[in-house]
Amino acid sequence: MKILKFGGKSLSNGEGLQKVVSIITDKVNNGEKIAVVVSARGNATDTLEEILNVAAKNGDYKPLLEKFKTYQISDYAAIDFSEEFNVLDKLYEGVSLIGDYSNKIKDQILSKGEILAAKLLTSILKEKGVNARFADSRDFLKTDSKFGDAQPLEQLSKKNVIQYFKEHGGDLVNIVTGFIGSNNNNDTTTLGRNGSNYTASLLANYLNAEELQNFTHVDGIYTANPDLVRDAKKIEHLSFNEANELANFGATILHAKTIIPLLEKNIPLRILNTFNHENQGTLITSDSTKEGIKTLSVLENVSLVNLEGRGLLGKTGVDARIFRVMGDNDISVSIISQGSSERGIGLVVDADKATTAMIELEKEFENDFYSKDVNRISVTDDVSVISIIGQDLSTFHKPYTALIKNKIVPILFNNTVTGKNVSLVVKKSELNRALNVIHGEIFGVSKKINIAVFGHGLVGGTLIDQILASATAIEKRKGIKLNVFAIANSKKVLFNKNGVGTDWKNSLQSEGVAYTMKDVIAYANDNHFENLIAVDNTASKDFVENYIPLAESSFDLISSNKVANTLSYGFYKELRKILEENQKNYLYETNVGAGLPLIDTIKLLHLSGENITKIKGVFSGTLSYLFNKFSAVDEPFSAVLQEAIESGFTEPDPREDLCGNDVGRKLLILARELDLQNEFEEVAIENLIPAHLRDGNVADFLTKLKEFDPIYNKIKADQKPNHVLRYIGELSGDLQHDKGVLEVKLVSVPSDTALGGLKGSDSFFEIYTESYGDRPIVIQGAGAGSAVTARGVFGDILRLSDKG
Ligand code: ASP
Ligand code: MG
Repeated sequence: MKILKFGGKSLSNGEGLQKVVSIITDKVNNGEKIAVVVSARGNATDTLEEILNVAAKNGDYKPLLEKFKTYQISDYAAIDFSEEFNVLDKLYEGVSLIGDYSNKIKDQILSKGEILAAKLLTSILKEKGVNARFADSRDFLKTDSKFGDAQPLEQLSKKNVIQYFKEHGGDLVNIVTGFIGSNNNNDTTTLGRNGSNYTASLLANYLNAEELQNFTHVDGIYTANPDLVRDAKKIEHLSFNEANELANFGATILHAKTIIPLLEKNIPLRILNTFNHENQGTLITSDSTKEGIKTLSVLENVSLVNLEGRGLLGKTGVDARIFRVMGDNDISVSIISQGSSERGIGLVVDADKATTAMIELEKEFENDFYSKDVNRISVTDDVSVISIIGQDLSTFHKPYTALIKNKIVPILFNNTVTGKNVSLVVKKSELNRALNVIHGEIFGVSKKINIAVFGHGLVGGTLIDQILASATAIEKRKGIKLNVFAIANSKKVLFNKNGVGTDWKNSLQSEGVAYTMKDVIAYANDNHFENLIAVDNTASKDFVENYIPLAESSFDLISSNKVANTLSYGFYKELRKILEENQKNYLYETNVGAGLPLIDTIKLLHLSGENITKIKGVFSGTLSYLFNKFSAVDEPFSAVLQEAIESGFTEPDPREDLCGNDVGRKLLILARELDLQNEFEEVAIENLIPAHLRDGNVADFLTKLKEFDPIYNKIKADQKPNHVLRYIGELSGDLQHDKGVLEVKLVSVPSDTALGGLKGSDSFFEIYTESYGDRPIVIQGAGAGSAVTARGVFGDILRLSDKG
């Protein structure tokens, strides 16, 4: 036999009741043997109690009672509830006259909820041809006389139940009232709120049921509340022991009282959804799952009461006094925290009890205030408790680090000595984000990286497309989910909390809105996004002003934009200070040599203590092309330049390349990687543009390219044999000092050297270090272009995703 239990929401008018009826008829038609336990329908118990309180205050309870009756009759006018309704009329009238009621009267009233539910369900089922029978549990479930919280008399009840089901067995389907019983005088008692779960598990125990199916309005037990954690997953199977940990945190179905009768007989409990009953739900059995189950549970409305006292060290009886105050005032304490210094104690209590707790503690410790043993009692409101159930301290650093990385610092945490359970107190405003961060971390599934991309030109646009194209594969291989939640240009931003789609360009056009950086930060906050990254793919000087506010709002930074690293050394340092304070990272691999792993290599060498003595190379793809070609062919400089311009290898104004500033900036960025404090003005740059062509408009300039020829044709001709021209950046000097020598210059080198052999538009870098001696590390390859640059930025995103 299986016991089916239906909760109040399952039995509510409309869809609920219909579903319950079809679940039962299906089972009966399948030949399954079942008994059904019901709660009161909808909020009947609450309503009956409310009416009771109105009546006791001599209020106008009658309209409420009529409304209750109408609800109960539902669409079944033919059903005769007159007996129950008459009793309710009489009892309420009496309460209203006397202005008071006893728990005994209250139990009589509340019991009607379950009686009406069972009667109604029985009669609907009968109409459908099911051999159903109303079973009043007061006939067999005997209890003590503690009205409102009665304890079943186990032996007697068991004997009664077995006898009762023998008499009313066979193919009868008993529809049993949950929650209620009777004492030896046959007075009605109730088992405490949510008690019909208990009734069901007692019946399962007495009747040796093969399974208890508890039908609720949720699909089962989740790794966290799905309303709070978007990636919460249903748990298929857990053990009673594990379930017991959950019960401590309020899951009514899993109350210890409910579980014990099942444990005793090893009866599995299945949590199912009435409204989705194809679902397998969550199965709870006595077998332990292998690695143990983890879930997050939350106490939302709590406050932290803190008692501080310098004079308390070693004093005995202080804690006892605190808890006596709590006990006397009926304040339950969910978490306690005290350090070995005994100078203070923190208690987590229900938010609505916090003020009482403080006032009563102040009274109790009044004399200790005078003697200065206690100096402060304070309350922190608006905090929440997150309990990681199934978590012990051996791996707690992982969720903890993830929290800190996301700028959530728990106010306190503690663990249980028995069982696995670590609890954290966080600010209520951070609860949602904290839950998502911890959940993502402990379930390892798809750590979500939330990305805002600024600038969607060649590099930015390519990056977005690259991310969208690889996201699925990356999630599969690395368990990292890349979520581009914002794309912005200088005017508009496109938001999508679930990530932009491949038609982001059109969406930005049609749905983009004007914005300030505050809006983007607010959007991330409102959506409780964790693991935030802001990518600067603009070439904007002004955008850099956003870096510090972004870092302070928990964003890591990535940029292909070079500006931030080439402003004053003061700003460079300031940004790094802020990043450090906020434990944020800033990556910019593409600032030099596009996607080539140059900055990362230099960083590692420097960090590992390797003494870098010189860096030398061709930093600009454009100028690489120009001089490689010019050196190789027998053509005037202007012809090669013209061709480069026409092929789109240069900036629209080629003077931006030819002036050497871009190379100078890249060189400066590398120098600063080595902790050198140079300023841009200190880079000695050989400007390739003849002085008289440096000003004036582009169009004009483009007509005068021939004026380069006398200079560069001569330089070329004056070289030693087998030499070629290269435009290089070079960092030298004593790099252990504060400043290095930074030069950008045109040099002539033997063609049989690595530098001399350079082809196409390759970038080329030689890193000389003490250990490598005169055999430098060489990094060479395509050092420009939107595809490789975007790949480089993507690489930075993955570097950050891997951290922490
Ligand atoms: N109807 C009762 C209550 O609401 C018992 C139950 O639902 O389990 O507490
Ligand atoms: Mg209920």
